Amino acid sequence: MTEAVVGFEAPTNSDPLPTPGGSGPLSAAEWAERASRVRPREELFIDGRWTPARAGGVQPSTNPATGAVIAQVASGRAEDVDVAVAAARAAFQRGDWSRAAPADRKRVLLRLADLVEANAEELALLDTLDAGKLISETTGVDVPGTAATFRWFAEAVDKVYGQVAPTGPGDLALVTREPLGVIAAIVPWNYPLEIAAWKLAPALAVGNSVVLKPAEESPLSVLRLAELARDAGLPDGVLNVVPGPGPVVGQALGRHHDVDAIAFTGSTAVGRLLQVYAGESNMKQVWLEAGGKSPDLVFADAADLDAAAAGVIQGIFYNAGQVCSATSRLLVERSIKDALLDRVVELGREIVVGDPLDPSTGMGPLVSEKQVGAVLDHIESARTSSHLVLGGERLEREGCFVGPTIFDEVPRGSRLALEEVFGPVLGVFTFDHENDAVATANSGGYGLAASLWTDNLSRAHRVASRLRVGTVSVNTVDALDVTTPFGGFGLSGNARDLSLHAFDQYSALKTTWVRY
Ligand code: NAD
Repeated sequence: MTEAVVGFEAPTNSDPLPTPGGSGPLSAAEWAERASRVRPREELFIDGRWTPARAGGVQPSTNPATGAVIAQVASGRAEDVDVAVAAARAAFQRGDWSRAAPADRKRVLLRLADLVEANAEELALLDTLDAGKLISETTGVDVPGTAATFRWFAEAVDKVYGQVAPTGPGDLALVTREPLGVIAAIVPWNYPLEIAAWKLAPALAVGNSVVLKPAEESPLSVLRLAELARDAGLPDGVLNVVPGPGPVVGQALGRHHDVDAIAFTGSTAVGRLLQVYAGESNMKQVWLEAGGKSPDLVFADAADLDAAAAGVIQGIFYNAGQVCSATSRLLVERSIKDALLDRVVELGREIVVGDPLDPSTGMGPLVSEKQVGAVLDHIESARTSSHLVLGGERLEREGCFVGPTIFDEVPRGSRLALEEVFGPVLGVFTFDHENDAVATANSGGYGLAASLWTDNLSRAHRVASRLRVGTVSVNTVDALDVTTPFGGFGLSGNARDLSLHAFDQYSALKTTWVRY
């Protein structure tokens, strides 16, 4: 894999992790030895305590690189959700967090950021073992990004002021922010720790209580995070974690009458359900970060085709393509098509697919057998309409491995053109005119991110302004930072994680009008 052009979900104001033990980089064997010593937490975390699921259910957590069962995690049901929401509500009413001075909440969240760093190796290993993410990325991106996110929102919360409205004489109208109450955060498996932090940091910073539901595939790192939050001084009940099936635990949260808002990252299909659940229950706010089919537009006037090719590779094969903003559609101007595609295929061929515990691996496994099946189904369907130029196979080895795959001449109305694969599959499209490129880029209904490569400043701004997406990266790919909002248009959802704008989702504006 090429060097990250811009590290996905790597806030730039995070430092890379110190090498565990302070010595040089670890080998695959050393990481495997450390992995064998990790002891996952396996119970629900409610009201500051570990507790089994009330109905006694458990769900095995499997390492997708080996198929080994690494934990038997308690699997919650609706009755566990009721207990967790009640604990969250009681904590909110108690006020030791919700009404604490912002500077006091800041201190606790800064301590949590420190504890994340102090336990970085364990947290990184938990995500690598549970979700198959590369150890080079969990140590280099996910865990430092998590610490940086908590630190940034902690630092921000005692610097956000209310307002005085410009009313007439004799009236004083104050506009202040209040926490909403109980937030249910429902998160996916592709960034188990870091996307949870994107929700938790701003939600907790402004004083809410949270019930967090991790994905079935990847509950381990956030269970440990909840314990670290308690150690940092977060009062009992303020953060609760209830693993379990989405249609059971997620639905119970979505339909709960005492949950004030849902903060969701996941598929568009489940996002739609959450809007229905909210409408059929208490009309809770529903903030959705959903799927994507992001385009990467390369114009003939791009200054550096090698950089563009490296960006294309990074954009689709990072985390084995299991990235919401993966640039899974390459739109390339006809005159440079062959030159660019040759480079992209060459770089794709060089990616070393294998053991995620080996720091030299470029691409790891998909998260589960289910995901392998879904990705192979897309590949089989694309074979009938498009021209396969790289990969297209499950690798002949133990574990959930599918190689980097590229299809050329993808018809614009085909499944591969329109549907999110969420795997290492790139579709290539050719265009002749800028208008055609923009129309193709904006087709399909998603609108999370886009990348464009050009040396023409006017074109860069013109095209960026016409792309209906939340983030446009110009001459880079998947640009992202804790200081900038991240979210989409259309089927990609309505939320904005990160930046001060994230506070909008976790607080309500209140007007207090005084006549004097
Ligand atoms: P998913 O929608 O299947 O699951 C996400 C979460 O929702 C999980 O915790 C799951 O248990 C839960 N869930 C499932 N069914 C539910 C239901 N009926 N009610 C309530 N909750 C339910 O998504 P996934 O497979 O875990 O993740 C992949 C998807 O996430 C992709 O579509 C990807 O694009 C998207 N994603 C989006 C972003 C973003 O920021 N926009 C980031 C990462 C991933």
